[in-house]
Amino acid sequence: MSELKLAVLGSRGAGKSALTVRFLTRRFIGEYASNSECIYTKHLCLDGRQMNLEIYDPCSQPRQGKLSLTDELHWADGFVIVYDISDRASFAFAKALLYRLRDSHLAACKRVVESAVFLVGNKQDLCHMREVGWDEGQKLAMDNKCQFCELSAAEHCQEVVTMFTKVLRTITTN
Ligand code: GDP
Repeated sequence: MSELKLAVLGSRGAGKSALTVRFLTRRFIGEYASNSECIYTKHLCLDGRQMNLEIYDPCSQPRQGKLSLTDELHWADGFVIVYDISDRASFAFAKALLYRLRDSHLAACKRVVESAVFLVGNKQDLCHMREVGWDEGQKLAMDNKCQFCELSAAEHCQEVVTMFTKVLRTITTN
């Protein structure tokens, strides 16, 4: 049985919990009273292989008593880095996270499989309020050798499942 650890990171409000819950339950839950970090666990079968998945969603609250970013980066086997296409600041935050992931010290401590990082531009349903172009997301992903998609946790169920499945598949095949 494989044990897989995935961290879903991004700025507050980008939709980390919405994406995680969408993947785990296939449901979209608009508002959460989630002021604490969560580690969700799920048993799943991928390509005929049984695995135990842990997903870490830091819930964007101040870091007192929580895993530090460095701990998160060391803990996880793969990463989903989320920004909100209608919020440029969240894109800058995602960019900083990607740079941090590429930090040579971290890379030396734990080799992150490059393609086990997925950059996600969430809230595609809000494209009339778009502040970040699709091409900007695509370029950031290419520059950091990670996978990329835009989607909507609110409206797209299958796309969310496909995105998580691609990250997990990348981890298990490396
Ligand atoms: P987190 O702080 O990154 O975990 O963000 P949440 O998952 O709590 O989402 C923040 C807010 O954005 C909530 O009000 C969600 O309902 C909303 N939200 C999340 N995903 C989407 C989406 O795809 N489209 C829209 N329109 N709203 C979303």
